[in-house]
Amino acid sequence: MPSIFGHALAGYAIASAYHQGRPSRRTALLAVACAAAPDLDWFTGFLDVHDRFGLAHRGLLHSVLAAALITALAVCLAYRPRLRRPGPWLFLGTATFSHGFLDACTFGGTGVAFLAPFSSVHFVAAWQPMFVSPIPLSDHLTNWLLFSLGTEALWIGVPAALVILASRYFRRAGLGSSEA
Ligand SMILES: [Zn+2]
Repeated sequence: MPSIFGHALAGYAIASAYHQGRPSRRTALLAVACAAAPDLDWFTGFLDVHDRFGLAHRGLLHSVLAAALITALAVCLAYRPRLRRPGPWLFLGTATFSHGFLDACTFGGTGVAFLAPFSSVHFVAAWQPMFVSPIPLSDHLTNWLLFSLGTEALWIGVPAALVILASRYFRRAGLGSSEA
């Protein structure tokens, strides 16, 4: 996986793009939470569940089905009066789905079980420019972490910064939208 910082930044950039400018704190937090939520399965590593029940890291919680459910939960909790508006579904869904996409673009991981629980196949992108984040007990942790964060800075940080800056530019130019 990219680090939690990479996923969070992607979520924030998506919220900025949707709102063409600076999203409210609540909107930004929601997008960041949705973008990071699939990695809650990282903690199953302490439970020794391996891939039983699809609960292992990058299993069921990283699937398209889970992303849809996470999005639905977030929209229902935060936008209950506006459930029929496509905006919240669009930007929170994009933030949530960005997680699996970015994970699939990392080199050194196990791939992502996009089709769980219907298939246990783990998918990787044809191009994997980012190095997977190290786990805490890995050897050469510091070097690995720095290299991993460097690839994230290039492939998530730079595009996210461009999206955020462009969003603010369009907002200032009078092309912005109001909060959904
Ligand atoms: Zn992940």
